[in-house]
Amino acid sequence: MGRAFVYVILGGGVAAGYAALEFTKRGVAHGELCIISEEPVVPYERPALSKGFLLPEAPSRLPSFHTCVGANEESLTPKWYKEHGIELVLGTRVKSADLRRKTLLTATGETISYKILIIATGARSLKLEEFGVTGSDAENVCYLRDLDDANRLVKVMQSCSGGNAIVIGGGYIGMECAASLLINKINVTMVFPEAHCMARLFTPKIATYYEDYYISKGVKFIKGTVLTSFEFDSNGKVTAVNLKDGEQLPADMVVVGIGICPNTGLFEGQLTLDKGGIKVNGLLQSSNNSVYAIGDVAAFPVKIFGETRRLEHVDSARKSARHAVAAIMEPSKTGELDYLPFFYSRVFTLSWQFYGDNAGEVVYYGDFSNSTFGAYWVNKGHLVGSFFEGGTKEEYEAIAKATRLKPAIDDLAELERQGLGFALAV
Ligand code: FAD
Ligand code: NDP
Repeated sequence: MGRAFVYVILGGGVAAGYAALEFTKRGVAHGELCIISEEPVVPYERPALSKGFLLPEAPSRLPSFHTCVGANEESLTPKWYKEHGIELVLGTRVKSADLRRKTLLTATGETISYKILIIATGARSLKLEEFGVTGSDAENVCYLRDLDDANRLVKVMQSCSGGNAIVIGGGYIGMECAASLLINKINVTMVFPEAHCMARLFTPKIATYYEDYYISKGVKFIKGTVLTSFEFDSNGKVTAVNLKDGEQLPADMVVVGIGICPNTGLFEGQLTLDKGGIKVNGLLQSSNNSVYAIGDVAAFPVKIFGETRRLEHVDSARKSARHAVAAIMEPSKTGELDYLPFFYSRVFTLSWQFYGDNAGEVVYYGDFSNSTFGAYWVNKGHLVGSFFEGGTKEEYEAIAKATRLKPAIDDLAELERQGLGFALAV
């Protein structure tokens, strides 16, 4: 038993939603495109899960955050897919792929064939077990990747009001969930191995600003150590966490955000991999020219840095998706993707954006005491990265534009003096 399509998108997350919209804009015919997703719902804006979804008052719920509302485009509901003749195979995992035969085999036993495959399988959360700690299955230990996780987190959170949450990991999930837990009146202690939060992006000075802000809200930080084991009650619920430095912390719930692993398993041995993902060219095309990869799973050439990167952010998922579809549908009009990396986060009333690369020397500007400050990264005499907290739309656009232009900087003191004015004048 099987069905055949011209285009198949494997995965039903952010990249899949934006690819679907682009396909319709470029005139895909009814019945040509199929999306297969393990998730039971049509693509949604995953970033909502650690923000609006966790609010105690008027939380965001589907259908309010289906793609592509995050880019101010239309909301693609199940009805939209139907109207556009896009076949949805939801709640269905693909368990093997035969790229030579151009077929995918689903867990329900169906064979789906394609002419062009777009891999948009994203990533899965890394589990504590991969670091030698057991207990992830306990009912009050939460991860956050998909809607099921988010529903579970909300339920656990609601049963813990006034209690203690331990957040493991000082990255994006850790920081955003810690803020949400606090807003839900839960005491939060963050535990992570690095010297400061967001260690891959923030400098110590930037991290100190956010940590101090969190501390002022009541969050505790335990840095430079890791979780080694859990204590459980007779029902298998976690009651405390044990840290490597010997400390024991009582816990009513635990949230774990210790990174992700791209979902490449179906393609190992069939496609060239790089940076933990599927290596693609500037058209998002893999080592097999009928197969494209987009979003978190794709390692693509970032021209501005002259190297291949795998980015785990929503803007990259959206833009790589659109570009792949353009390359597929209008190859003669589509050049190589020229992407400027863009990361952001929103917590409490804070909001920052970062563009480019955090390499080289750092120049700070603005007012750290007034939540309006920024930083530039200057590498080999050029501006390569820009960060700003508390900006307006115009200010963020200015730092993005300045970073893309990579202007030569020969006087760091002058750049510091000009501060945001430098970007606004470019
Ligand atoms: P995903 O959105 O993860 O989609 C992958 C899809 O593939 C899923 O539907 C999955 O079920 C499906 N799939 C995988 N394997 C199979 C299979 N074998 N068979 C069938 N289906 C399969 N980024 C930002 O820039 N800003 C943010 O504020 C932000 N917040 C985030 C908050 C949370 C809680 C999370 C988890 C991520 C956040 N991100 C954020 C990252 C951003 O959401 C991801 O970069 C983006 O979702 C990547 O899109 P994707 O389509 O590549 O993968
Ligand atoms: P991140 O990679 O952002 O952070 C993981 C953190 O956990 C790092 O501080 C890491 O340290 C630490 N860590 C690693 N192993 C352990 C361990 N054994 N014990 C304790 N800490 C550990 O991943 P997240 O899990 O926070 O986020 C998952 C994905 O979701 C990412 O792709 C992220 O981009 C995305 N996301 C993005 C958001 C945004 O852009 N605003 C918001 C929410 C999620 P080290 O650096 O040393 O490995």
